[in-house]
Amino acid sequence: MDEVQTDTNSQSETASEYASSERAAETTREEKPASGANSAGICYCGKERNLNIVELLCANCSRWFHESCIGYQLGKLVPFISNYMFVCKNCSQSGLEIFRKSQATIPQMCVTAIANMQQNAVKDGKSKFLFSKDKEIIPYIEQYWEAMTTMPRRVTQSWYSTVQRSLVKEVNILFTYEENAETGAMFGLVTQDLSLIKPNYDTMGKGGLLRTSEDGHGTGK
Ligand SMILES: [Zn+2]
Ligand SMILES: [Zn+2]
Repeated sequence: MDEVQTDTNSQSETASEYASSERAAETTREEKPASGANSAGICYCGKERNLNIVELLCANCSRWFHESCIGYQLGKLVPFISNYMFVCKNCSQSGLEIFRKSQATIPQMCVTAIANMQQNAVKDGKSKFLFSKDKEIIPYIEQYWEAMTTMPRRVTQSWYSTVQRSLVKEVNILFTYEENAETGAMFGLVTQDLSLIKPNYDTMGKGGLLRTSEDGHGTGK
């Protein structure tokens, strides 16, 4: 995903700014850990990331938090979703975590499905990067629909063709594609580093945060 590259750029820019004006940087230094692979900036518990469980990224401090360390009743989720806004209790004014799940787009749901199946393969000691649209991706979304999105489950199967269109449209952007004689259309992720799948807080902005109010707490009280 291209946001990854943006992150890298902004980090190196920051680094050179620091070098050119250390003193100023020191006094105005914000607590801003590098998002991504910085183990010092992970969770309340300080332990490493664990791609086998649900983890949420704080919109403010950019730290990852393990589902098991979060006090908020998150409801049913699956790993690798990006359609949410989370603020950890260190960053929240009330001292309570904030969590809002929003509707996922079909491409987001495809990313989540493929990422989970790829990680499940890793857990089984296999490496598998391509998954059948009909036999794996669509059944995964069927199975975990409520955990993936706040959108009501579809009663008809018309979204199957939306999946097809979304996958094809984003080939080489989000997805890799291969036609297999036996299994048909197979799709994978362009970015195979699953630790990079996260909400795009940069573009979500304040509008994104407000927009979630229509649905409040996904599974709620
Ligand atoms: Zn933790
Ligand atoms: Zn935070």
